[in-house]
Amino acid sequence: MKPVVFYSTNGHAPEVDLRAALLQGQAPDRGLYLPCSFPQLDAPTLGSFARRPYAEIAFEVLRRFTPGTIDEPSLRALCDDAYGFDVPLEPVARFGGRAHVMRLDRGPTASFKDFAARMMARLIGRFVREAGQTLTILTATSGDTGSAVANAFHRIDGIRVLVLFPIAEVSARQRKQMTTLRDNIRTIAIDGKFDDCQALVKRAFADPELSQIPLSSANSINIGRLLPQSVYYFYAAARVARPGEPILFAVPSGNFGNMMGAMIAGRMGLPIRRLIVPVNGNNEFPLFLGSGDYRRIEPSLNCLSNAMNVGHPSNLARLVAVYGGEMDETGAIHRPPDMSSMRRDLFSTSVSDDATRATIRSAWEEHRLLLEPHGAVGWRGFLDFRGAESTDDSPAVVLETAHPAKFPDEIEALLGFSPEMPASLSALDTLAEDYDRLAVEYEQFKRYLITHY
Ligand SMILES: *Cc1c(COP(=O)(O)O)cnc(C)c1O
Repeated sequence: MKPVVFYSTNGHAPEVDLRAALLQGQAPDRGLYLPCSFPQLDAPTLGSFARRPYAEIAFEVLRRFTPGTIDEPSLRALCDDAYGFDVPLEPVARFGGRAHVMRLDRGPTASFKDFAARMMARLIGRFVREAGQTLTILTATSGDTGSAVANAFHRIDGIRVLVLFPIAEVSARQRKQMTTLRDNIRTIAIDGKFDDCQALVKRAFADPELSQIPLSSANSINIGRLLPQSVYYFYAAARVARPGEPILFAVPSGNFGNMMGAMIAGRMGLPIRRLIVPVNGNNEFPLFLGSGDYRRIEPSLNCLSNAMNVGHPSNLARLVAVYGGEMDETGAIHRPPDMSSMRRDLFSTSVSDDATRATIRSAWEEHRLLLEPHGAVGWRGFLDFRGAESTDDSPAVVLETAHPAKFPDEIEALLGFSPEMPASLSALDTLAEDYDRLAVEYEQFKRYLITHY
């Protein structure tokens, strides 16, 4: 197999291999890395996935990207180490057994971000140790990324992690998942919004005066997060669809990293009937898909599905690139993408908080399907799609991206009971927290970085 090369969506950076793309995070021209070409999986390989465990499918998919950077036995061991938990596919009876909810919440932080973060941490840890270096991972989180990243890198030699989170937008439990780890993990509460945290991080990466600190990003802008997020689409399709049968996926979206995983799987040969990408009240994407005109939302709206409160999804530049266009990091479009193909492949809709709550209630009452706010946005998007195109009875998989026990108050208020807590979450209450606090002030943040790293 030939090595896969990665280009920058801004078009002004050299092409790099997987190792460089992972270690840099963002390209030097502030673009995002994407593979120059997508390796293909043939039908017999896709068919064989029906009988294979998750870690093995991960290895089969990821080894297409790693020739020349990591040997196959080592990659296999990393996949086995990263993916030891269940990936349940729960059928929903009402839809003739063809609709399923895939619960991506069984990892150590009970969020789908564990899938990406655990694999990326193991790859980066290996690359850094091979080079005899140390690396600081700098990441902004709206709740779940930070805890997944911090957990994934916790106690990995050669790596230090700094997580920024918006103090008022993160639940106590989400906060504790980051602030109780210690060791090589440091956290800062920012008196601002997620977008402010993301802006501080982006500015630090672009600051030449910080170039002596080896920084890398673990946000969804890192291609090392996206590639592992393609794996569960292969896994689900093999278990739910007949061989070669196109499948519907509904992916509740914020920064569009998860949906880009599906896009990558599709480009690698997985037949996808339609990709449904509902968002919360931050509706910049459905508006863009409709009009071709892109306007970021500033500041982003604070919605119930708080990990999706994104007014300018960082992965949009990648989506635009896949459809032949060019969008820079500010959201300016320099070459329009093929909007009609994008509309053919994607369906998007905005789900209000009221509709999210009503969906949590009706999913439980009608199907005994327990959803939290992010998964409810996904399920509502699927129902909206069926309403709009009622003839489509393709097999469907709706992604539930967090564990309902992460939203006990909301579920209790709507359904009258508290979801059972997974052990990984219940242990948190006994641990002591440790974090720093800063205003949204770049110079202060920069001094912090220089002092600590
Ligand atoms: C991050 C997150 C999302 C959104 O995923 P994107 O890749 O940013 O679109 C959805 N649900 C949960 C629970 C998340 O943590």
